[in-house]
Amino acid sequence: MKKAFYEVLLPALSSLFHKDNSILRMAFRVLSGILLALLIHKVPVDNIEAIFYDWRIRTAPTSEVSGRVHLIFLNTKTLEKTVSYPDANSFYDLYSSLIAASPRRIVSLISFDRIEGSKEDKQKLADLIKKADLVTQATDQLTPKGEPELKLPPPFEFIPVRTAPPTWDRNVLAKDGVTRRMMLFYQDEWMLHPILAAEYNPEAINLSRLRGRFEFFEAEQARIAFLPQGSFSTFEWTEVTDGLKDLSDMKDDIILIGDDLNQDSKQYVMTPFDRSVKGMTLTELHANIIETLIKNSSPYPLPDFLNLFFTILISVLTVHVVLKMKPGKGILLLMSVAATFVLFAWLIYSTTGAMLVMTYPLLAIFLVYYFFIPYRLIVENRKSWEYYQKHQLLSEVEKLKTNFIGMMSHDLKTPLARIQGMTDVIAQGMTPMSSIQREALDTIRQSSEDLLKFISTILNYAQIESKGVELNLVSKDINSLLKEVSKKHEFLAKLKHIQLILELEPLFSVNVDPDLLKQVFSNLIENAIKYSPENSKVLVTSEEVDGWIQVQISDQGMGIPEDEVENIFSKFFRSKNAKSSPIKGSGLGLYLAKYFVELHGGRIQAESSPGLGSTFTVELPIQK
Ligand code: ADP
Repeated sequence: MKKAFYEVLLPALSSLFHKDNSILRMAFRVLSGILLALLIHKVPVDNIEAIFYDWRIRTAPTSEVSGRVHLIFLNTKTLEKTVSYPDANSFYDLYSSLIAASPRRIVSLISFDRIEGSKEDKQKLADLIKKADLVTQATDQLTPKGEPELKLPPPFEFIPVRTAPPTWDRNVLAKDGVTRRMMLFYQDEWMLHPILAAEYNPEAINLSRLRGRFEFFEAEQARIAFLPQGSFSTFEWTEVTDGLKDLSDMKDDIILIGDDLNQDSKQYVMTPFDRSVKGMTLTELHANIIETLIKNSSPYPLPDFLNLFFTILISVLTVHVVLKMKPGKGILLLMSVAATFVLFAWLIYSTTGAMLVMTYPLLAIFLVYYFFIPYRLIVENRKSWEYYQKHQLLSEVEKLKTNFIGMMSHDLKTPLARIQGMTDVIAQGMTPMSSIQREALDTIRQSSEDLLKFISTILNYAQIESKGVELNLVSKDINSLLKEVSKKHEFLAKLKHIQLILELEPLFSVNVDPDLLKQVFSNLIENAIKYSPENSKVLVTSEEVDGWIQVQISDQGMGIPEDEVENIFSKFFRSKNAKSSPIKGSGLGLYLAKYFVELHGGRIQAESSPGLGSTFTVELPIQK
């Protein structure tokens, strides 16, 4: 069991937590997205959501009014015309005109107990209303169960009084004082609005059929599908009493009588369309409620799991964006996601009346973004710190290496020079040597020469790496340098029966560092001989091309494999061919050559056909 834990479970677990495990990282992102979404759904957002709610109501296209509701206003214009507040006689004129139009119902929002006039006049009005049996008095007072029904004082006591209360979100929900809800049913009693609407739509008094119904404070409620102000057919009081308007359209409809006197703020409500104190008259609010019920068009919320689904989706996406994408792109993507979601929610409301909670997903974008940004910063900071440390270490190691090589090479040079000196002494000595002894002495001299060359190369490299090389410019004819270097290598070429051919065109003298360039050409010519078979040719050419001095060294040697040509100027690089052959080399010659040529403002390149030969081209600018 213990063994199984150490051999199977532990590696499996550690691989799960390994940096590159994308499944685990994905799971982490999804889980944190879900967790944050669940937390965000606990935040009360009624007041923010109300802003989106109102915006949808304001901007969504509205359907046509049913035409079933008409409004009569007692307003300032009326008072100008009637001089004083209308008395019983004026009410009589109004009601007789309205009754003559045969509406289905007349609802007065102006209380009958406010009507002034003589007893006779009031009685005359009461008789008219009683005979027509069309009038209802609306009140905003609720009658709790058990209490006596509300009654008007005589002579209007027969007029039914029905509750039609406005509601505000003052201390509940959005707490902004805006009216968004209607009351449908309270303590076994239907409110006036559903009763009136049921004249045209029986669903209005069927709780199971009413759209968007919800229980709130022991009352059945629903949201109002507000229409913009002025959507209903409206008349001013004297237009009716003076018979100025054709009222035939009111037949079989509902008439609401109310005031708009700019006197009492209680007569007005704030609506999603207008948040000013006098946003809408109570009369028009009642018309909106009745209209909503006639059409059964209450905005209704979508189930909570759908809201949660969208919040989770957007949270997970945001976590992913914050942790994975470049900030600029990420923000752009999140902004488009937010815009698409808003448009989607708007379209759903416009086409179906369904309300998707918009605050949670949008809040998720902000909160998740700000929650995860510090996390990402920490991760990135750690990464760059690690890179920095690694870089520091590497450059430290590189410095140590260069110093070490330099020191070593320098210390090797002295004993080597001594060996060479001693060999010369022995060679020039008087004592005759056997052929074996002479051969041994030649090998010692050759080996120490090779070693010295190798050490010089390494020293050059160490110098470049530590403090660079300075040019000692002298006006020089490149051809003379080429001749000098070639001469030095003639012996080596002869040993391999290689023909070293020089084709040099006359050149202008240029300012160069002859020592460095001699090293360059020497390396190229030596390589050409080194990597060529016996009895082949090495061609050295020089000419002037477009303001450049061009030197080419071509051989008929083993060549360089195609995929390695681009690397041959790298330090310590040796091709597979070279490494597998007995030919010795440090892999530094071409690196130094390139460095020295570029120091002169020139360029060097190689072309090669494996098995056929190589050509190295050095170009030096004539004017520098
Ligand atoms: P080395 O000391 O190994 O010659 P160089 O830097 O001078 O180092 O050359 C790097 C490598 O390039 C050599 O090891 C060899 O593989 C290849 N190379 C250079 N010159 C030639 C050439 N003329 N023909 C074929 N290969 C060459």
